[in-house]
Amino acid sequence: MLYIDGEWRGAHSGSSFEVTNPATGEPIGDVADGTRQDAADAIVAASVAFTGWSRLTAWQRSEYLQRAYSLMMERKEAIARLMTEEQGKPLKAARNEVQYAADFFRWYAEEAKRIYGDILPAPRSDQRFLVLRQPVGVVAAITPWNYPVSMITRKVAPALAAGCTIVLKPAEQTPLCAMEVFNILHDAGIPAGVANLVPTANPAPIGEEFVTNPRVAKLTFTGSTEVGTMLAGHAASAMKRLSLELGGHAPFIVFDDADAEYAAKGVSLVKFLNTGQACISPNRIYVHKTIVGRFMEVLEERVGRMRAGNGLEEGITIGPLVDAPSLQKVDRQVQDAVAKGATVRIGGSRLTEAGLDRGFFYAPTVLSGITPDMEIYNNETFGPVAPVIEFDNEDEVLALANDTNYGLAAYVYTQNLGRAMRMFEGLDYGIIGINDINPTAAAAPFGGMKASGIGREGGREGLAEYLETKLGGFSI
Ligand code: NAP
Repeated sequence: MLYIDGEWRGAHSGSSFEVTNPATGEPIGDVADGTRQDAADAIVAASVAFTGWSRLTAWQRSEYLQRAYSLMMERKEAIARLMTEEQGKPLKAARNEVQYAADFFRWYAEEAKRIYGDILPAPRSDQRFLVLRQPVGVVAAITPWNYPVSMITRKVAPALAAGCTIVLKPAEQTPLCAMEVFNILHDAGIPAGVANLVPTANPAPIGEEFVTNPRVAKLTFTGSTEVGTMLAGHAASAMKRLSLELGGHAPFIVFDDADAEYAAKGVSLVKFLNTGQACISPNRIYVHKTIVGRFMEVLEERVGRMRAGNGLEEGITIGPLVDAPSLQKVDRQVQDAVAKGATVRIGGSRLTEAGLDRGFFYAPTVLSGITPDMEIYNNETFGPVAPVIEFDNEDEVLALANDTNYGLAAYVYTQNLGRAMRMFEGLDYGIIGINDINPTAAAAPFGGMKASGIGREGGREGLAEYLETKLGGFSI
């Protein structure tokens, strides 16, 4: 269903599309297939609602968001189960995501009350300068399927806290999770038109409406660099404000002074999280040649223990990939690497045993002997494949890590404080984990440099993305 102007309704076209479980291939729901006209209607509703919402006090907006937080916590288990069915991640990971998603409601409920202005020194004695921060207006938002709840709250919560209204198009693979978020907003009593949802199986016309409709002040997009770049071009020609959270190609660097076993454990956890379908997933694992032996032993042993299957079942640690094209892309990268000389240490093929053939399962894979001519060395994999590359010295590995258009996340394992600081300062990435595989939280600014995006989500930076700065010069 679409959620427009405070009501659940069908699409103008009258048609719907099917949602399937990527672990079983079975249909799990049918969702109204929104059209460009539906998006335009939602934008009108958001535009009308903007006046009232933006004039509420920060305390009032904060209370709505606090209620949304409480409702999401009450419904945590049900939403997590739905997420596992719709997106495929194991239940434990789904619970973690719902918590992360709810945290954005709580954090921005608090930050809503801290949108301060400034009084600046003026050059004339009869002049006063005041700076006001005001909501940008109607926000159009587009989100991906890999984190189907938190990618939504990471936009909706700060937008609403700032006083903006929003129209959101979720990914076509995960509209049911999106509907649960908007159910929460409805039940929290958020006024009609403030938050609107337009699922669709045909995103291009809705994207077109978002970037051309004059009532839309800002586009916020999370997804691939390819689609983000295309939308940014259109949005720029209409002078819309823009935030982009795009693809990544994270280096994971393990120095010879690091604990090789601890680093291998870290890779085994973060690389295979969400079956590798995370924008901050390590995609090039550089290990110092003097410790690579022990590192590989531990990594292979841990990956060998992983169990793929339906994430609702006990003990499953690896879910399916989201769809058939994703499976083909992962396998193509592995085959390309093998053809150019890489060694498959473990995994390396699709999983089809014991009923897994009905889903899109790929074996957790470790590759060694990776070289720069391989596709996997240069492009985001978005799958459960850990490519390991040996290196010799710090300057060399820093240059290799930075030699990409992407700049989202990077990871460094070292016990040397000076080296940790040099890498933190030298890596051209927006998020750096130093002996840390989870440098994310609602309070922290998340985002990338270069082709990984523009702007930040989370933290006080995430709120600033939805605010205009206005200067008042008062002559008295
Ligand atoms: P995608 O293909 O770019 O899709 C993302 C969203 O854009 C979906 O809602 C999609 O709709 C929509 N879309 C596609 N074409 C469109 C068009 N012409 N006009 C308007 N909307 C359009 O990306 P994805 O494969 O779903 O997501 C994976 C990518 O997201 C990866 O590259 C990953 O790194 C990145 N990501 C980044 C972050 C971050 O914070 N930086 C977080 C998560 C994911 P449909 O679903 O209907 O195609």
